[in-house]
Amino acid sequence: MPELPEVETIKEDLRELVVGSAVERAEVFDPALVEQPSAAEFARRLDGVRITGARRRAKHLIVELDSGDALVFQLKIGGQLLLVPPVEEPRTAVMCILHLDGGGRLFLRDQTGFTRARLLDAGELEVRLSALGPEPLEEGFAVEYLRGALESRRAQIKPLILDQKVVAGVGNIYADEILFDARLHPRRKANTLSEAEWRTLYEAIRENLAAGVEHRGTTVRLYRDVLNRPGEHQNYLRVFEKHGEPCPEGCEGEVVQEKVGGRPTHFCPGCQRLSGGEQEQRLTFA
Ligand SMILES: [Zn+2]
Repeated sequence: MPELPEVETIKEDLRELVVGSAVERAEVFDPALVEQPSAAEFARRLDGVRITGARRRAKHLIVELDSGDALVFQLKIGGQLLLVPPVEEPRTAVMCILHLDGGGRLFLRDQTGFTRARLLDAGELEVRLSALGPEPLEEGFAVEYLRGALESRRAQIKPLILDQKVVAGVGNIYADEILFDARLHPRRKANTLSEAEWRTLYEAIRENLAAGVEHRGTTVRLYRDVLNRPGEHQNYLRVFEKHGEPCPEGCEGEVVQEKVGGRPTHFCPGCQRLSGGEQEQRLTFA
């Protein structure tokens, strides 16, 4: 599930390995990949363009082209952009190939089939990205913003930090790690957090995502970088999919898995208490 750190890693790889190349031909094998425009128009508008840049916004991977278009990927659950031929060739799960000058090929592979691509002009790109919240690793993301955006919300904290309109780029893996770090129960109502808890949550968001970037992403199952290498951050996870294991903080509790906001959620009920003191009363009588 590529989240901010994984898409950031792929973007950096593209800058190093692909930017400057021209697309000689685009082959689309799965028309479901292309959301906009039609698959035929998509391939036609990619013919002969040069790749001039790569950037990331939230979980969107944006490939900039000298035609003025942007090729935007949402890798969703299992999307991979690979410069080396996928091992399952011929073509299992390959949704698209960009044939590059010099003989290179960029494969879009997705065993889950959920990756989506759009070819957008500047105006369309701006509209597409306009509703996204701030980038958590950039200057504009401050604890005052986070608290201001959420402190009056009665919703549970986990779905709120997954909301891309609140903060861009957090997905299910990092959300669980962030809340463990902040010692916040995923079902805590946002309007019960103290000033100190907002600060801790804010720092946990930044630290966990920065560590994910430093470790070139988390490979739980499908994530690979552009050279088909797994990330390293899975070696640093403490609660995600660790249910049944002892608490990594040694509280003598056990990591559990429950659904929160419809998503499998992993936490330590010993360290991340839902009840206690003032919060308990406010929750009980809310
Ligand atoms: Zn614990």
